[in-house]
Formats: sequence, C-alpha cells, structure tokens
Amino acid sequence: MIEVEDLAKRYPNGVEAVQGVDFVVEPGEVFGLLGPNGAGKSTTIGMLTTTVTPTRGTARLAGHDVVQAPLAARSVSSVVFQEPVVDGALSGRRNLELHARLWSGSRTHVDTSAKALGVHDLLERPVATLSGGQRRRLEIARALVSQPRVLFLDEPTVGLDPRIRHELLDVIAGLRDRGELTVLLTTHYLDEAERLCDRIAIMHLGRIVALGTPAELRAELGAEIVEIRVDGDGHRALARLREHGIAGDDSFVVGSTLTVRLPGGGATAAIAAVDALELGALSVGARQPTLDDVYLRLTGGRLAEAA
Ligand code: ADP
Repeated sequence: MIEVEDLAKRYPNGVEAVQGVDFVVEPGEVFGLLGPNGAGKSTTIGMLTTTVTPTRGTARLAGHDVVQAPLAARSVSSVVFQEPVVDGALSGRRNLELHARLWSGSRTHVDTSAKALGVHDLLERPVATLSGGQRRRLEIARALVSQPRVLFLDEPTVGLDPRIRHELLDVIAGLRDRGELTVLLTTHYLDEAERLCDRIAIMHLGRIVALGTPAELRAELGAEIVEIRVDGDGHRALARLREHGIAGDDSFVVGSTLTVRLPGGGATAAIAAVDALELGALSVGARQPTLDDVYLRLTGGRLAEAA
C-alpha cells in the first residue's frame, strides 16, 4: 500500500533531513516512524503526502507515485497534521462536511467517521468549544470522511495530557482492529509505538537504523539484559567487562549505567562476575529489554531525552 525507495530530502538550506529511506507498508498494517525531534519523520510524511518534494527516490501510495501522480496519491490518502486544521468557528459537522465535499466523501461518512472516533455527540458544537482531545479526534474523523486507504498521523498525541492520550490511543487501536485502513504514524513515544504498531522503523538523523516488529527489535538484545550502575565512568567498567568476555559488542553505556546483553550462565553468573571484578557497582539487575534500549544502542541517545 505504501512503497518507499531511496527517498531523500535536502532542504534549500542544505539540511539533509531524509537521507535515502526504504520501506514497504502492507495493506491493513499500522507502521510507525519512531525517532526524536529532527530525525526526519515529518519530512518523510511531507513527501508521502505530496507537500514536500523529494530530492531523490520514489514513493507510491496504492501504486500512485507521489511526484508523477500527486492528485491520485492524495485521493487515496488522508493526513492529520500536528497543527489543527479544523475551523474553530464552525461546528464539527460543518467541518467534516466541507472536507467530504472537497474529497467527494458522502454525508453518511460524516456520521460513520464521527461515530468511529467517538465524537458523534459533539458534532453540532462549534469546534472552538471542544477540548484538545476531542478536537484531535474530530481531526481524525475529518480525515476519514474521504474514506482513505492510507491514513497518515503525524505525532497524533502530542500535547495531550496522559489520560486523554491513552483514550486516543484506544481509539486509534480500534481503527487498527477494523483492519481496513493502512496507517503510517510518527511518534517519539515508545509506548505508543509498541502499543499501536505492527512494525516500527526507528529513524535517526534522516536514516532508518532499525525496522521490524516491536518484538523483533527487542529480540536483537536477547531475552534479558543486565543493567549495572557504577560509581564513576561507565566506559572504564565496560572495557573491563569486555576484557573478561562478559560484555559483547552490543553493550552500551550512558553516563555511569552499563547495559549488557545477558551472557551465558544467566543473571546470577553475570552478577557474580561483576562482583568478582570489583567494578564498584552500586547496583546490578537483570530485566527484559525495551524499545528504549534498542534505540539507545543504535543511536547512543535516549528517546525521551532527545525528544
Ligand atoms: P522530525 O519530524 O523527526 O522531528 P523533521 O522532518 O521535522 O524531523 O526535521 C528533520 C530535519 O530537517 C531537522 O534538522 C529540521 O530542522 C530540518 N527541517 C525540517 N523542515 C525544514 C524546512 N522546511 N527547511 C529547512 N530545514 C528543515
């Protein structure tokens, strides 16, 4: 449904925002572009929604090339941007009807879309009177009125408080479960990507540095990892663990915390080995790897800090 080959964007100011990305999204799949601010996620969505012209490569939506056939590509897709596009003075219904008329969606779709997003009861109210979360749902309902085959969501929960964010995630998960829609969303929230996405591409500095299901990405770090907090420089401690064959190449350090893939012998053996080396460990613990660990190993930065 979405085919992207060697897609790149260099802005006139010389910034190489996207540096040749490749991915394919199957019909009905929810695909996440995960990465901190500046990774190139919005630029990628911009190219797929024909608002940003690629400098290289190709992208097709349901077979329509976004550069050769932009209108056809747009007619099969819809996008919800971070900035609101609904008109605050008009009612929700009027906003949705205007969008339906623009993209030849029918009035029935106004009601079905609003119901799917749980905003049907709010349709007659001026949009300006809705809360942030309600407005975000209305934006998504509006995008669905044209019955797109592909829905782009750019940071759908940005700026929402945690409870509203989780309610919206439930609604998006509901859309996914109906399985008719192909969704590409961007996010810098790991839990969001993990919860909603069938597959995730981790973006860093304009490139995709990992791509797979959340489980596949986590499996790259093994079933369990050992986290060791030391007093002082983590790099020196890691060098010693490497010398003794306890830590491999996929280990990494942030400040004074070392993360090491669990070696043969299990957690007890690893903890005993750390003790024997007298690294001055303040704490040692084993746990399952998270997407944050995957991101950290690949990019050297924590998503939450970078975002
Ligand atoms: P993300 O969505 O992951 O935060 P963006 O695609 O917005 O990343 O940005 C990627 C890089 O491109 C950043 O360095 C950003 O400053 C730069 N950039 C984004 N839009 C423009 C633009 N219109 N002109 C110049 N540089 C841009």
